[in-house]
Amino acid sequence: MFDQSTLIPTEMLKEFKEKIHLIAREKIAPQASLVDEEEFFNREVESLLWDQGLLTLTFPEEYGGIGRDQTVALCLAVEEIAKYCAASALLLIIQAVGSFPIIYGGSEALKKKYLPQMSQGRKLVAYLVTEPWAGSDVAGIRTTARRVGDAYILNGAKCFSTNGGVAGIYSVLAKTSEERGKSSFFLVERETPGLQIGRTERKLGQRGSNTTEVFLDEVRVPAEHLLGKEGEGFLIAMKDFDMSRPAIGAQALGIAEGAVEMLLQSIEERNHLGKSFPDYQIIQAVLAEATTLIEASRGLIYRAAILHDEGRSHTKLASMAKCFASDAAMKITTEVIDVLQILEGLGSPRQFEVERMFRDAKLTQIFEGTNQIQRLVIARQTVKERIGRSIKE
Ligand SMILES: Cc1cc2nc3c(=O)[nH]c(=O)nc-3n(C[C@H](O)[C@H](O)[C@H](O)COP(=O)(O)OP(=O)(O)OC[C@H]3O[C@@H](n4cnc5c(N)ncnc54)[C@H](O)[C@@H]3O)c2cc1C
Repeated sequence: MFDQSTLIPTEMLKEFKEKIHLIAREKIAPQASLVDEEEFFNREVESLLWDQGLLTLTFPEEYGGIGRDQTVALCLAVEEIAKYCAASALLLIIQAVGSFPIIYGGSEALKKKYLPQMSQGRKLVAYLVTEPWAGSDVAGIRTTARRVGDAYILNGAKCFSTNGGVAGIYSVLAKTSEERGKSSFFLVERETPGLQIGRTERKLGQRGSNTTEVFLDEVRVPAEHLLGKEGEGFLIAMKDFDMSRPAIGAQALGIAEGAVEMLLQSIEERNHLGKSFPDYQIIQAVLAEATTLIEASRGLIYRAAILHDEGRSHTKLASMAKCFASDAAMKITTEVIDVLQILEGLGSPRQFEVERMFRDAKLTQIFEGTNQIQRLVIARQTVKERIGRSIKE
């Protein structure tokens, strides 16, 4: 399905990418600035994404998934949407990330019950891992799940939960043992007594995404809602990262491409008007570096996505893709703002658009593991490949 040597999508994926591009340009782009300014969750865009099957891409085919090349398709869709609205693209990523523990660890009966509720009943999912005292250090979570008869009782506090206030289903990580790092994922329905939505988080960027605290107070779930085996939560979270990190890279790539498109539009317009180009060499240098970084990001992201779809080991490449593409997006959006200032003057509408992209790009350096953490993963994996085991730190 995918030509790995050239990274060119096959016809089916090319058509898919073009279709998403048109939808994003025509239907999502016109609302992107408003959504950011007024910080609201856009139900209209959510409906559109359901209609197009984009919120179930990574589901098994019988529940609305795309079938083959799921990670590549997810990255392509995220990239195309993020060119215009990163917050809308994040919805695709979180739906894939939050449903992964259910798809990977849920029993057949559980999947049969809940995946149609999500695909046909259009329920969003949230992924509840981070806590006020545990972000990078996933093993440090304090939320507990204790077994009582044929149920588990969950207690704890989660924060920075994307879709926290709009989801119908939650994949929740909780400790199932006193031993550090021994945690498990659980499926929790929104209506379960004791689950409460807290404060909506204020964010620098991607303000159209809904991010909240979620509290769990004596939340009782049937024992069948345990996802995977008891104690397997950390492993599932790590497996999830192998898919989500290329997707965050794709989001950053889309943001960077959106910024470069603004610059090219400005150059084209100025050329048509017959105006001169002040500091033309500075503009050329920015454009050359941005387009090179974009191509390098694309290479890392789609190589990692292909390996994931082929079921091959790629943890290091997934971290490289996320880290490189998000740092590149940060650099590109920063420099494009400067160049637009030269071309169009301070505070032009295009400069405002790229400022939104700059704020959106910053978040891609943080979630799904900060870039400091990605660098640790890359270095550790590199040493492990060389000496055959992890070193004691
Ligand atoms: C917009 C947004 C949406 C999010 N959505 C979700 C979600 O849906 N679900 C969810 O569970 N979480 C979500 N998160 C949380 C996100 O995954 C965490 O913010 C991230 O993992 C970092 O955790 P932290 O904020 O607690 O920072 P900390 O872990 O406290 O780290 C603080 C700083 O120290 C650095 N640091 C920490 N440890 C090390 C180390 N060993 N070496 C070097 N540097 C280190 C970090 O890189 C960071 O810069 C979201 C975050 C944001 C901003």
